[in-house]
Amino acid sequence: MTQQPTKTIAVVNATGRQAASLIRVASAVGFHVRGQVHSLKGIIAAELQSLPNVTLIEGSLANNPGLMDELFRGAQLAFINTVSQAGDEVAIGRALADAAKRAGTIQHYIYSSMPDHSVYGPWPALPLWACKFTVENYVRQLGLPCTFVYAGIYNNNFTSLPYPLFQMELQPDGSFEWRAPFPEDMPLPWLDAEHDVGPALLQIFKDGPQKWHGHRIALTFETLTPVQVCNAFSRALNRRVTYRRVPKIEIKVKIPAGYREQLEGIEVLFGQLEAPYFPQPEFNPPAAGSPKGLGPLGGKGAGAGMMQGPGGVVSQRVTDEARQLWQGWRDMEEYAREVFPVEEEANGLDWML
Ligand code: NAD
Repeated sequence: MTQQPTKTIAVVNATGRQAASLIRVASAVGFHVRGQVHSLKGIIAAELQSLPNVTLIEGSLANNPGLMDELFRGAQLAFINTVSQAGDEVAIGRALADAAKRAGTIQHYIYSSMPDHSVYGPWPALPLWACKFTVENYVRQLGLPCTFVYAGIYNNNFTSLPYPLFQMELQPDGSFEWRAPFPEDMPLPWLDAEHDVGPALLQIFKDGPQKWHGHRIALTFETLTPVQVCNAFSRALNRRVTYRRVPKIEIKVKIPAGYREQLEGIEVLFGQLEAPYFPQPEFNPPAAGSPKGLGPLGGKGAGAGMMQGPGGVVSQRVTDEARQLWQGWRDMEEYAREVFPVEEEANGLDWML
């Protein structure tokens, strides 16, 4: 076998769902990966370390330019998903971009961003999202060849454990109930992060900054209302699964600092104001007859995302770009059938037995 030229991808929070998804597929097709982890303990870190050509660096990202220099040294590609647990996300996000620039070898820098709703309409910013948008703007100003991915809601947020917002609560009669502030008919973007982030990112790296410099790409493959999500679970599990819209998110367990404000923001932004999940104009193409644009993920009164084109009505969906990047995506029904019961059993639950 001839020696193949290899590129090195630098990633942070390597054990997170987004980064781990990329590392698994990147290693499988021959990339080298250098990944920062908060801790080498745990099954995901052990799994990643066992993969070919994956090197993990343990250490904190907070005030740690030395680690960042080591991370990017000689790397050609970077996927950066900052997380709030690691410390000040804006400071870390900026420092990482500075370090990537200093390295001088980065050909494509992909940052996992999220919107600041206050920039796009009469909406409050969600604290854990707006900081990522601040970092995005910093990366743009630095002049790195860059692309910004926006993750939809993870399928595997769902659990029957009492975590806020995405608890599928097991009822005494064996059915499930999901209670959340989203309107019953609100179109929401979904993503099977572990299954589909990696392959989509690989394709973005293959296309390169020639195609994607400066772009925002929605990482979502499926748009479903809360009722449609419950119907998918119901078909998959062969049980009754119902959705109930509630104004307040129940907090039954201890949650990390800052998460309460995020949840309260979600109650207002999506529950009361019915804002679109992705407010940016590029994710909300104009609907027929509307100069202002009513996108597929529009909030109040949004259209179905159909546009009048020269050849008639063309479908304009927020999922189009991701589906073009990667056709093997996993939908909610498959997730609920194949993965949800396995994850639940791993969490010590036995309703599926
Ligand atoms: P994750 O939630 O799967 O994992 C979090 C990572 O943080 C783990 O690697 C963990 O080891 C690490 N960590 C835990 N404690 C830490 C500490 N004290 N210091 C440093 N690191 C620590 O990660 P993910 O899902 O890949 O990324 C999370 C990000 O994705 C969040 O910023 C979130 O806002 C964003 N996001 C999530 C969703 C969703 O539906 N869940 C949707 C869009 C965006």
